[in-house]
Amino acid sequence: MPGSITNGLQVRYEQTAVRLFAALPLSGPLPRIEAVPGLRDRRGPVHAGAYLREGRIAFDCTLAEFPRIFVHELFHFAWPRAGNPVRRSFEDLLRRELRAGARGELGWSSAWRKEALDAGDIRRRTRRWREYCCESFCDTAAWKYSGTARHPEFTLDRRFRDFRQSWFVATIETRRISI
Ligand SMILES: [Zn+2]
Repeated sequence: MPGSITNGLQVRYEQTAVRLFAALPLSGPLPRIEAVPGLRDRRGPVHAGAYLREGRIAFDCTLAEFPRIFVHELFHFAWPRAGNPVRRSFEDLLRRELRAGARGELGWSSAWRKEALDAGDIRRRTRRWREYCCESFCDTAAWKYSGTARHPEFTLDRRFRDFRQSWFVATIETRRISI
């Protein structure tokens, strides 16, 4: 029965979400978690979608991938709530990385956006730049907090991972952003 399989998956998603959320430096209610087979956005099939205003996240992914995808989506709720100084500070970190020639990222979502950037995007802080910064923030959180030690999408050079790790400890873990 497809319905009961979806319900079973949703329960497993929720159990994992509650466990991960308790250990994150965020406060506030956990968004609603939904299992949605065949999930798509305007680009095509996707593993998840965060609906910030509705306070829910839809998923179509394996249980093995769920922690990384869940933490990424949850930090989409944190980015707009983090405030300008925090966002600008993370942008500065990424700008320094790019200047230092950092290659790779910590997830596909930020990786393809990083590839598409040009010097003008960074200088003028275009929408493309700001979207890259948001996705990089969410991918970095997923890398740090999902318990996923290794993943083919973790391609950022080691020393830059260390800078991001320190930034999260100093800037996010001292604040407990309310989502
Ligand atoms: Zn994202």
